Amino acid sequence: MKDFSGKVTVVTGGASGMGLAMARRFLADGAKVVIADIEQSALDTAVRDLDPTGERVLGVRTDVSSSESLQQLADKTVDAFGGVDILCNNAGVETGGPIADVTEQAWRWVMDVNFFGVLNGCRIFLPLLEQRPEAHIVNTASVAAFATGTPTMAPYCASKFAVLGFSESLEIELRSHGSTVGVSVLAPGPVKTRMTEAERNKPDSVKVSTDPERQKVIENLARKTAEVGMEPADVADMVAESIRDNRFFILTHPEIAVQGVRTRLAWME
Ligand code: NAD
Repeated sequence: MKDFSGKVTVVTGGASGMGLAMARRFLADGAKVVIADIEQSALDTAVRDLDPTGERVLGVRTDVSSSESLQQLADKTVDAFGGVDILCNNAGVETGGPIADVTEQAWRWVMDVNFFGVLNGCRIFLPLLEQRPEAHIVNTASVAAFATGTPTMAPYCASKFAVLGFSESLEIELRSHGSTVGVSVLAPGPVKTRMTEAERNKPDSVKVSTDPERQKVIENLARKTAEVGMEPADVADMVAESIRDNRFFILTHPEIAVQGVRTRLAWME
């Protein structure tokens, strides 16, 4: 198990779900942790729970859809802990519905948080990460980045495809000029967090197709969300392992990943 002693980690969306689990894991392994989240009260609770002394955890209210807010996060991290070794661009939101019904404002919101939040996080933090040996970026996509699956998730899927494509390009570019900053993409299937709670409680809400075959696929996916979900702590373990190996990874839920990749291969054949 990697010892993260002395490392400074920044986790966006760190007040809940997977981000909180990552923060907890880094802290347990000796790191100092900055959790950044748009929800102030969740942030306060998370900081208190993680480290009541407040010595190794800092909460910074941040809106990742704003590059000014991300710049302030970087400045506060440097002021508090002197630099950054690991950046987890994890904050994300979800919206859905038939494409024609999703407003342009909703499309932009999902892209601003899920994609531009990741892109600007990398742009703003990279100069700091380049100053550290063994620095690493973990960008949270989703299995939706390569297995679209559900007909009502176009904004979410588009944003996560963008995260995956951007992250692969970033890794190639960094490697081409000899950077030691590693990049991983976190692309899990269903994880039991607040984001999936609604679907777990209301599987009927996905009845959207008049095509019975298509509806069956959707219902199966909803059931999978209810049944298969990984625990956030398992995801955090995968993340810690990928940082230890410090090379490009797409971390995902094995069963669903295989399905997704097979779907894509079938189209390519
Ligand atoms: P979550 O809702 O528990 O956590 C997301 C966190 O992001 C929340 O604390 C929220 O306040 C924060 N956030 C939202 N908008 C923000 C903004 N503009 N700026 C800063 N923080 C913001 O959900 P989660 O499941 O832990 O999601 C974490 C990431 O994992 C997301 O990117 C999500 O898309 C992705 N993901 C989730 C699943 C799943 O099944 N839960 C699967 C694959 C990928």
